[in-house]
Amino acid sequence: MSRLDSAIRRLEAQRACLDCAAGLVGAVEGPVLEVGLGNGRTYDHLRGLLPDRPIYVFDRRLAAHPGCVPDPEFFVEGDVRETLAAAPARLPGPAALAHCDVGTGDAAANAALAAAIAPLLARLMAPGGVVVSDQRMEAPGWRELALPGGVAPGRYYMRRSAAPASAPR
Ligand code: SAM
Repeated sequence: MSRLDSAIRRLEAQRACLDCAAGLVGAVEGPVLEVGLGNGRTYDHLRGLLPDRPIYVFDRRLAAHPGCVPDPEFFVEGDVRETLAAAPARLPGPAALAHCDVGTGDAAANAALAAAIAPLLARLMAPGGVVVSDQRMEAPGWRELALPGGVAPGRYYMRRSAAPASAPR
């Protein structure tokens, strides 16, 4: 597979997983977390999918397309290992959906960062909330969700935080 093919499949997987996750959290109250703003493509997609939800965006720097810059009150600048740890005081409540896209070409660094982020995100998620990520992430109480059709296993990841027994799963 060429790098172009791989990039296209990655973007298609992101879109399919975000579309799917937005449908899954309809009954879950709370804001959305975008971890890794980058150019702002997925942020832009999320705000179109969930226009009535506040989206809190985390990145170490603001370098997005001018049309995809969050309002200052929703942008949390700094290393996510620090900003996510401090986020409970910043957020209005537990999050319904989190999208985490902070990977680089360094697989070992990606795995280490994902392992650091997962427990921090777990503290921020509402029961039944959905975590979509570019790296495998595990936390106690999270269960793996089936990927949308056409997304190959291991290309993207979806997890659901533990929901009350009576809540829809
Ligand atoms: N989802 C974005 C989009 O669609 O445009 C692309 C995100 S880009 C691949 C990854 C982003 O994660 C970069 O903007 C980078 O600054 C950020 N990032 C990576 N590691 C980080 C860390 N430890 N703390 C904060 N931001 C980090």
